[in-house]
Amino acid sequence: MLSTMQDVPLLISRILAHGSTIHGTSQVTTWTGDGEPHRRSYAEIGARAAQLAHALREDLGVSGDERVATLMWNNAEHVEAYFAIPSMGAVLHTLNLRLPPEQIVWIVDHAADRVVLVNGSLIPLLAPLLPHLKSLEHVVVSGAGDRSALTDAAARAQVRVHEYEDLIAGKPTSYDWPELDERAAAAMCYTSGTTGDPKGVVYSHRSIYLHSMQVNMAQSMGLTDGDTSLVVVPQFHVNAWGLPHATFMTGVNMLMPDRFLQPVPLAEMIESERPTHAAAVPTIWQGLLAELLAKPRDVSALTQVTIGGSACPPSLMEAFDALGMRVCHAWGMTETSPLGTIARPPAHAVGTDEEFAYRLTQGRFPAGVEARLTGPGGERLPWDGESAGELEVRGPWIAGAYYNGTDAEPLRPVDKFSEDGWLKTGDVGTISPDGFLTLTDRAKDVIKSGGEWISSVELENALMSHPDVAEAAVVAVPDEKWGERPLATVVLKEGSTADFDTLRDFLAGEGRIAKWQLPERWTVIESVPKTSVGKFDKKVLRRQYAEGALD
Ligand code: ADP
Repeated sequence: MLSTMQDVPLLISRILAHGSTIHGTSQVTTWTGDGEPHRRSYAEIGARAAQLAHALREDLGVSGDERVATLMWNNAEHVEAYFAIPSMGAVLHTLNLRLPPEQIVWIVDHAADRVVLVNGSLIPLLAPLLPHLKSLEHVVVSGAGDRSALTDAAARAQVRVHEYEDLIAGKPTSYDWPELDERAAAAMCYTSGTTGDPKGVVYSHRSIYLHSMQVNMAQSMGLTDGDTSLVVVPQFHVNAWGLPHATFMTGVNMLMPDRFLQPVPLAEMIESERPTHAAAVPTIWQGLLAELLAKPRDVSALTQVTIGGSACPPSLMEAFDALGMRVCHAWGMTETSPLGTIARPPAHAVGTDEEFAYRLTQGRFPAGVEARLTGPGGERLPWDGESAGELEVRGPWIAGAYYNGTDAEPLRPVDKFSEDGWLKTGDVGTISPDGFLTLTDRAKDVIKSGGEWISSVELENALMSHPDVAEAAVVAVPDEKWGERPLATVVLKEGSTADFDTLRDFLAGEGRIAKWQLPERWTVIESVPKTSVGKFDKKVLRRQYAEGALD
């Protein structure tokens, strides 16, 4: 028997229509770096998104499910692209501007992007790539930045260059958005390649819609139109964790940092624009923390900080809590849209000694994400908070395959998808009986020493809780006797004189780390290499060690 309910497709155009009318006065504020931020209402964003769609269709000939790429910072124009492109039926492809140029070329070619919207400040990055971007026909430039490098390169590559504002000027401010299939492609994002070649994940209208509702639940980020969210996590990093879509559902204001992602401007915008929420990876917060400790400011409005992308060190959580910015830890992947878990402690733990331990976990699975743990032999492991295995997940906003070209069968590598269609996350951890996930490591980062596993994350967290340590990354290095042993690479705080014996004693003290897990190899480095999305790049450290650069 079929239901008697209306079958209204879950489309991005509906999120846009809702946000730009019901929440028409909410705002996107973009930091400009010159003291006067740029403000645009959701109603204006809605009108300009319609104009952009007209321009893409009528002037640039974008049709069907063609891919339109963005090479942009977080700003109002990027939000317009977020809504215009999928709403008209095309596919938004956010390019990670921190990837090595050859990977950007590979990705544009793989996705067959016909148009790219670029910020003026990123022309120096795009112009030299143009001769290699074979599918590209149009470049649309917005925002400040010298255009001259683009003019020559585009002429040689036979690519047409347009000014965003000129292109949309005079176009109608409404658009008859098509009734698409909710399962159609809306946006695509390639994984950042820390695990090999980039892989394309294609989100549907339906997956983005459902994911956004989950982000908005009180047990997730739970923001309202009284909030302003400082969206530090880039729009090219898994759709800024779903925030631009989620905020258009609820009217949360967005504060966009554009290219000003350094600790000083971030501290300035928190002080002057008074966001109530912010989201970013731990390395961004480490930098901001150092700045706030060096130069205290009024950050009292910012009471909720979402941290994810890599494990939040307990020392960071404590330091932020002390500043009144309560950290909420979350886990996810490009393949999971990304919200997979979020660590809001259960009601019975609030205000008790258990609360902090719950908050340190990666969090609880929301409705919509099913999880299971698989042991080395493929066996299912219990949710007992102790049995550690690889996390597998399934749900309406979890990828079931990777993009392999429009006419090709999607890719389902056996190391990424189980035979029955679950996503193998490559993350190793435990799940408590009440559904809280604790990740011990990534499968490829765990140190396999004499048949036992040592968690690199646990060692890093313990090291980073030492007052003299600014950052620490631990990687496995080959060892004749044990197979692998940990190598601790440590960034010391300025003026610190701590030596390895001191740090080793600290790790061994108070039962922090078991004796057999203590590293015997140490090195001081100037900074930990980072990936394109700001995570510790352990691949680089392993290579540097192999080349003898870390002895
Ligand atoms: P990439 O795999 O290219 O680094 P993603 O941004 O998709 O790109 O990274 C997803 C991975 O990041 C997860 O599989 C996990 O290993 C790690 N991760 C994300 N959030 C957390 C977290 N809160 N704690 C620990 N690891 C995390």
